Amino acid sequence: MNSAAAASKIAVIGCGISGAVCASSLARNGVSVAVFETARGPGGRMSERKETTEDGKEMLFDHGAPYFHVSNPDVLGLVRDWEARGIVSQWKDNFGSFDCLSKQFTDIEKEGLSIKYVGVPGMNSICKALCNESGVESKFRTCVGKVEWLEEEDLWSLTSVDGQSLGHFKGVVASDKNIISDRFTTVTGRLPPIDLTLVPELATKINEIPVNPCFALMLTFGEPLRSIPFKAFSFEHSETLSWAFCNSSKPGRPKTSECCWVVHSTAQYAKEVIAKVGLGMLSNTVFSQIAEELFQEFQKTAADIPHPLFMKAHRWGSAFPAVSVEREEKCLWDGKKRLAFCGDFCVSPNVEGAIISGLAAASKFVDIASCL
Ligand SMILES: Cc1cc2nc3c(=O)[nH]c(=O)nc-3n(C[C@H](O)[C@H](O)[C@H](O)COP(=O)(O)OP(=O)(O)OC[C@H]3O[C@@H](n4cnc5c(N)ncnc54)[C@H](O)[C@@H]3O)c2cc1C
Repeated sequence: MNSAAAASKIAVIGCGISGAVCASSLARNGVSVAVFETARGPGGRMSERKETTEDGKEMLFDHGAPYFHVSNPDVLGLVRDWEARGIVSQWKDNFGSFDCLSKQFTDIEKEGLSIKYVGVPGMNSICKALCNESGVESKFRTCVGKVEWLEEEDLWSLTSVDGQSLGHFKGVVASDKNIISDRFTTVTGRLPPIDLTLVPELATKINEIPVNPCFALMLTFGEPLRSIPFKAFSFEHSETLSWAFCNSSKPGRPKTSECCWVVHSTAQYAKEVIAKVGLGMLSNTVFSQIAEELFQEFQKTAADIPHPLFMKAHRWGSAFPAVSVEREEKCLWDGKKRLAFCGDFCVSPNVEGAIISGLAAASKFVDIASCL
């Protein structure tokens, strides 16, 4: 990238919902922006997973966030716009709860009390649409491995993990706390991309964030599970499972005879498993054992749940940050170096918190746009 282009461009690392909202907001405000995402597509913890059965049928699962609520007026404004564009819909099924002791289901919400939103046709649709907006340049399968501060040029230099130069930028938004946390080293064996000594205050805050893990179990049955009275329900008195969602019942999903469910483990279960098997690569055998264990608990909800046509477990090592580090400012910001950190860990451990934080990070740059 030539220096004139670098003079005003902002790099956003990560295309989860906070990074995607931030990039979209920057572009809409006339700030030039490039997004780098290590995964093959956008979404982060709002991703959609494509799987294939043995007989070649394709299935799609929202294996991260299954839906979200909104109460913040700014976020509501955005979500209504996304609804009008057809990338978000309301999921109108009533949610229930299953008590593992009494073996009873109960209705936990009165109709219309809380609006539940989903991306359409998958939870990743919002990030997909935002990173394709005019003015947003997106690069996938690009893991940022080094973010260097060039003091003399007053610019940032980004390099991928395989040593490729990604260009020079006037500012950087990091939308994943692992980019400067010790956890990055624990999981990857590499040094964090951003040198912690450059931003000691921010690093201290980020390193202190404990996280709750979760295993998601993806299931496909040959037909709908008619003995389960709810399309989504929580588990009471289960040490293993927390929630179950019928993916196929969400609006805009493919209408097939098969029926897909996603079941979430409790954080406690996930912590115990991770304590035994670690955060590194797991073998298929270990994943199969975890899937079987989670399915056995799910099967207790009704007498006639058949064995699924497809079953697979996914590990979310950092599913939910357990604390919020910047509820006031909504993002972490170093104005001198033009470096922002955004994500759910700043505001609240959910989609809405991540959106609020992405908007806040963008506004830091928009406020100084005339100096970029
Ligand atoms: C199982 C599960 C269930 C959930 N349930 C709900 C729910 O019911 N309701 C709700 O509102 N929320 C829920 N959440 C939480 C919600 O998904 C998150 O709060 C939100 O998606 C976080 O978005 P984010 O942008 O902050 O982070 P992320 O989505 O984690 O985005 C960070 C992105 O940065 C990328 N990245 C990291 N490092 C690099 C690098 N070096 N180079 C390039 N890219 C990089 C990552 O690949 C990722 O895409 C759930 C999450 C999980 C996992």
